[in-house]
Amino acid sequence: MKTDIEIAQESKMKTIQEVAETIELTENDLDVYGKYKAKINFSAMERSKSREDGKLILVTSINPTPAGEGKSTVTIGLGDALNALNKQTMIALREPSLGPVMGIKGGATGGGLAQVVPMEDINLHFTGDMHAITTANNALSALIDNHIQQGNQLDLDPRRILWKRVLDLNDRSLRQVIVGLGGPIQGTPREDGFDITVASEIMAILCLATSIEDLKLRLSQIMVGFTYDRKPVCVGDLKIEGALALLLKEALQPNLVQTLFHTPTFVHGGPFANIAHGCNSILATKTALKLADYVVTEAGFGADLGGEKFLDIKVPALDKAPDTVVIVATIRALKMHGGVSKDLLQEEDTVALEKGFSNLQKHIESMQRYQVPVVVAINEFVTDTESEKNLLVQLCENLGVKVARTNVWGLGADGGKELAQLVLKAIEENTNTFAPLYAEQTPLLEKVEAVVKQIYGGESVVLSTKAEKQLAQLKQYGWDLLPVCMAKTQYSLADDASLIGRPRNFSIHIREFIPKLGAGFIVALTSDVMTMPGLPKKPAALNMDVTNDGKAIGLF
Ligand code: ADP
Repeated sequence: MKTDIEIAQESKMKTIQEVAETIELTENDLDVYGKYKAKINFSAMERSKSREDGKLILVTSINPTPAGEGKSTVTIGLGDALNALNKQTMIALREPSLGPVMGIKGGATGGGLAQVVPMEDINLHFTGDMHAITTANNALSALIDNHIQQGNQLDLDPRRILWKRVLDLNDRSLRQVIVGLGGPIQGTPREDGFDITVASEIMAILCLATSIEDLKLRLSQIMVGFTYDRKPVCVGDLKIEGALALLLKEALQPNLVQTLFHTPTFVHGGPFANIAHGCNSILATKTALKLADYVVTEAGFGADLGGEKFLDIKVPALDKAPDTVVIVATIRALKMHGGVSKDLLQEEDTVALEKGFSNLQKHIESMQRYQVPVVVAINEFVTDTESEKNLLVQLCENLGVKVARTNVWGLGADGGKELAQLVLKAIEENTNTFAPLYAEQTPLLEKVEAVVKQIYGGESVVLSTKAEKQLAQLKQYGWDLLPVCMAKTQYSLADDASLIGRPRNFSIHIREFIPKLGAGFIVALTSDVMTMPGLPKKPAALNMDVTNDGKAIGLF
């Protein structure tokens, strides 16, 4: 069987100009990066604004397991299938991070016959957006340390700086560091730390900004730390929002690529959904909605993380709710939620499947809570048996939810037509009466409780002493009415990865609140979730190589 990279390398791509023509963009609308990648320029985005929005389809999933769900694969396959049914469609995805690419998860360009290409470029350095975000983030760190070194006019307390450095790699040794060692000319020693780039507030800002002007405003609002008398200091006080915006001006433009079936696809912005808000950029989604009649987009990890954040953080900024939500589930993963270990997944087990179905059922209920139409997509694997597939269809139908079997991984567009038909039907029925989870003015703790009780199915929220103090501080500064961005393990509805299936009667433990004023939300760190991941025992990097003529090997 061919690997994802072999299929991608053998595919015949169209030039990016040909792809752009299918969405009525000309050469003048593009800043071209080689033959197969381009950025859309600001004048093209401005021109498209007068058009009506297309229909928006959000793809989310059950809680992931090491068995893999194939959410990106189904997103891409659904886009291809809609185009094959003559529905003019674009796809909007997040950009992969080198952390998981070199680590465990693999890339984020789909798989089998449902991939975006050129997959090597997209999974590696692509158009340099990650580099730009990393540089802007670290430029701010350097400018903060320089400000302190050069007399500290703003009276910044080096012990109370919240802003951290970032790197787009999994590197646990950098989680906590001391900078400025070596004597007076090397700066003021202070504790610092590194996050992964996708957790940077600048990544969130890039994904939520609607223009360069908005980007600059949001950058100026980033709160970097406190003065000795506990007054907040923002980027605007340092007067460097212009320089940071300059470093990000190209990165703000959406990247256009194509699928194996030539469906035009934006791959832009890549915050993780466990430790950040998990959605591709507003500019990419908004522009795609103007250029196509249907847009298929994906939010990271399960419906409890990316799905919830899409609906509660991205939707208000986008000013549009999805017309349908697709929940991807695999029989393998549901069996794992039912207690089967990874090495026994090949064997038929309808009992475990029925037990693990409880996880999918919770996500169906959670998404229906928002009053948007829901469709379940079963992403079929060759190891699934007929009785297992029939049982899963039956369990969904018993709940009255639309369900389609898909095999876009094996068949490409053809394998997604049943799903595409159901999605079109759900959109036509027009039962969408989007109801947000909480009103804007709800206090922060009540917002957290709404997510925990209604989306995770938990009982209560427990704050650490530190989080209690921070909550009081957030109230004092008037920041406690911002939306919450929960940082939680992706593997469970609870904050304990071992609680698979549909746990009940659990509490969510908030260890810390972090204000992200530029992004416009407060991050709530639960349990022991990390904003700088580590590498596993056998990193994916061990399989990678490059031939003497520059061809990538082993990139999945
Ligand atoms: P997610 O977006 O949920 O993280 P991806 O779409 O990135 O998942 O897929 C993860 C991996 O699983 C990819 O390597 C992909 O090739 C593989 N995969 C996805 N769907 C299938 C399938 N139906 N059969 C076999 N492998 C699949």
